[in-house]
Amino acid sequence: MSQIINAMTVDIEDYFHVAAFEKNIAPTNWSNLELRVEKNTYRLLELFSQYKVKSTFFTLGWVAERCPNLIKAIVEQGHELASHSYAHQRAFTQTQQEFRDDLAKSKQILEDASGQAIIGYRAPSFSVNDSNTWVYDILMELGFEYSSSTYPIEHDLYGVPNWPRFKYERPECYQNKKIIEIPVPTSRKNGKNTGIGGGGYFRLYPYWLSKRRIDAYLKAEQQPYSFYFHPWEIDPEQPKISGASVKSKLRHYLNLSKMEGKVIRLLEDYQWNTMKSVYLDDVAK
Ligand SMILES: [Zn+2]
Repeated sequence: MSQIINAMTVDIEDYFHVAAFEKNIAPTNWSNLELRVEKNTYRLLELFSQYKVKSTFFTLGWVAERCPNLIKAIVEQGHELASHSYAHQRAFTQTQQEFRDDLAKSKQILEDASGQAIIGYRAPSFSVNDSNTWVYDILMELGFEYSSSTYPIEHDLYGVPNWPRFKYERPECYQNKKIIEIPVPTSRKNGKNTGIGGGGYFRLYPYWLSKRRIDAYLKAEQQPYSFYFHPWEIDPEQPKISGASVKSKLRHYLNLSKMEGKVIRLLEDYQWNTMKSVYLDDVAK
């Protein structure tokens, strides 16, 4: 087993929040759909407890508002609660005012529900790029200390292939304070980055291949690895969204039934802790 402690993260949202379905389901209709995120997240809490893993839960304010007991369970079990925005709108589609209002609302709801300060943020669909670096100014103004909102790969929906691949301090400054960005892990070959941080790639590849890539990353980079996934990825029974494109459906529904087993293998094969613990608490890292 590798000695490096890695960061486990989950983005707490439901199957109907994903950006790929935004043309098919309006946010005003979310409340009419079957809520499955609560049950699926309790299942993840069970797994994390079984394997003695602490995780960061980047949670939508929209979910926290509806599932206050879930939020209490997350923090009572020693996990880190963080923000994934209120309403899962991609940051680069918002004005600065819209972004600030949504973020402040999510932070307030999460802090009220948990009784804890919220210092971590992940943008929906990794939606930070050269067009909206003002996101970091607003995060600092609202008291955030880190963000994990960038994926340095080429992708049709997001991605900043030329941005840093590892944890770094952003150039923005607010009242002498700085903020750090923790990009999703990538492997680099022939000048090109490939995503290895979780999500669709992890569901697509057989476990042994993902493991080989993670092991190669840990060996070559000597950096902590971080993994992200979603509660809906372990839920093959979720209602199917009609009218979505073939590509969106393929990405969303691929290998859902295999996901829980693969996550369990990750929990067994590596050491994990929260983002805050891995990247912020140990200044020597
Ligand atoms: Zn999300």
